[in-house]
Amino acid sequence: ERIVSGEANLDETSLEQSIRPQLLETYIGQDQVKKNLAIYIEAAKNRQETLDHVLLYGPPGLGKTTLAAVIANEMGVNLRTTAGPAVERAGDLAAILTALEPGDVLFIDEIHRLPRAIEEVLYPAMEDFCLDIVIGSGPSARSVRLDLPPFTLVGATTRAGAISAPLRDRFGVLSRLEYYNENQLKEIVNRSADIFATEIDDYGATEIARRSRGTPRIANRLLRRVRDYAQVKGEGDITLPIAKASLELLQVDQLGLDHIDHKLLRGIVERFRGGPVGLDTIAASIGEESSTIEDVYEPYLLQIGFLQRTPRGRIATPLVYEHFNLEVPE
Ligand code: ADP
Repeated sequence: ERIVSGEANLDETSLEQSIRPQLLETYIGQDQVKKNLAIYIEAAKNRQETLDHVLLYGPPGLGKTTLAAVIANEMGVNLRTTAGPAVERAGDLAAILTALEPGDVLFIDEIHRLPRAIEEVLYPAMEDFCLDIVIGSGPSARSVRLDLPPFTLVGATTRAGAISAPLRDRFGVLSRLEYYNENQLKEIVNRSADIFATEIDDYGATEIARRSRGTPRIANRLLRRVRDYAQVKGEGDITLPIAKASLELLQVDQLGLDHIDHKLLRGIVERFRGGPVGLDTIAASIGEESSTIEDVYEPYLLQIGFLQRTPRGRIATPLVYEHFNLEVPE
């Protein structure tokens, strides 16, 4: 497993639970999204109505699940959670929807992975809070309408483009989560260190923040590894030398890039003269799926300006050459 992956590892889910901020006030960064949500939440509460359906999109680990829980908390309602791939039949979704209490937040992670036929069950549920159920089959089949309690659907996806237009149109609020800057990540690292009762100095926190690829999940994961290192090799406190040494050992470079990023970037530079080179060609040359590159490896490299997407393929920018101490070709 990649230490710099934005996806959660199986063993860290419960750990993450314990460091999730519960309120908008303690949720760090994403200021624009928070400002808007704060207004919608207050307005809905004043009118004693449910909040509009919210679609959160952005790379993994940026805080979509956390924000869904914050929304439920701020609204003072229950949070129910499921994920696109977990809903296999229309009946599964019907069971979840009919079990909701008025006002509940239903969080569907990876909503773009809901099968289309099941997605269609959601349309009347989102729009009119009802379910259309077909009873029987053949000529005697008839459709029955079932009322649902009003609820708020919070959907999360890594790619807004992967969601069908009819589903997207049924969300009242669309919020894009952005990568976090160094200061915000530092705040997150300090907050988590506090919860872990670990001493960390400003330089140590900055070093971890810098290598976290703009992603809170990675920041927290690196913090935990550095903390282990500090306990075993140091006095327990996290300082700059401790952070540097342990991150070096983990092979996470100064920008948070690991060997897979290196392989990808060096591949483009060395085999394709820096590009442009098509995604499928890159994928074949390093033995990865195109979709994995596009969804997992590439977004951060685009974000830091190492890669450019052009109609003719990907280009490695001069920053890549600089990073590897290579000469930029003519
Ligand atoms: P996503 O659902 O987008 O993959 P999560 O909501 O599961 O991401 O967040 C991953 C981890 O990062 C959580 O454990 C949470 O503690 C932390 N985190 C995410 N966003 C924030 C934030 N804005 N402030 C503080 N911690 C955050």
